[in-house]
Amino acid sequence: MNAPIKRSLNDFKRRETVFIHLPSKGLSYPPGTVNFSPSGEVGVKPMTTADQITLSNPEALISGDASVKIFESCAPSIVYPEALYGPDVEAVYAAIRLATFGENTDIDLTCPECGHQHNFEMPIRYSLDNMKFLPENPKAIITVPSEDGDQTIEVFVRPYTMVESTQDANIKFRESKTAQILFANEESFEDPEKKSQFFQSIQEIARELVKLVASCVVRIVDTETGEEFDVDDKESIHEWINNLPAKEAEKITSLVNSLNTDFGIRKDIDATCEKCKHKWTTNINFDPAGFFA
Ligand SMILES: [Zn+2]
Repeated sequence: MNAPIKRSLNDFKRRETVFIHLPSKGLSYPPGTVNFSPSGEVGVKPMTTADQITLSNPEALISGDASVKIFESCAPSIVYPEALYGPDVEAVYAAIRLATFGENTDIDLTCPECGHQHNFEMPIRYSLDNMKFLPENPKAIITVPSEDGDQTIEVFVRPYTMVESTQDANIKFRESKTAQILFANEESFEDPEKKSQFFQSIQEIARELVKLVASCVVRIVDTETGEEFDVDDKESIHEWINNLPAKEAEKITSLVNSLNTDFGIRKDIDATCEKCKHKWTTNINFDPAGFFA
């Protein structure tokens, strides 16, 4: 009889237990960003105690460092988490949540009709299974008047990366902080000095947001001639967008915003109040900051 093969503790390591498609399907990532499985999926492991501690540090979450650490630990097939698009990041977080806590994660909901509070099972699997995939090669069509009549330019964009999403959140956080400080009391609304300061800061913030949008431009093509323009110099793309008629620039900005928010895992769910039977639709927050709330 053979002696039993001695097993080592390494046989009992964490494994990838949840496999998901990414909302982007990884189509427009630079090669090597994600190592997909043969079926085009990404495997996710449950969090360790150390990961949970990382996620409970609000400052690390705001800076984005926590997300990179969590992804390195729980989704090692994502080689460059920093480059992952926002909707993909959200899907991976939902999968990590599923791998760590299982299907039955509860959330508290309050009925908008009768105020009754109840526990609701968070349908993470449903949210993942019903994700909305990002469109292929999304583009805004910009019309620019010229001597030979109107010309159209196709501007291809991508969503924000993990790093850009963090920058966007920090810019908007600063905007609301500035407003709070400048308009701390009612008299300050009448103060021309404060109004002017606020106006300046709003302009500065708008400029920074356009800069982020400019970094999301991946290709610019003249519709008529098929000529391609250089998009590597982000500073000149930024200037170009800034000098477009507002209506045209808005097409680019709103397309990038739509890619950031309208795609990915399903977040709206139907709830029914167990007390008064009222039905309503609610949005689930998959923000990692709320994992242990
Ligand atoms: Zn109710």
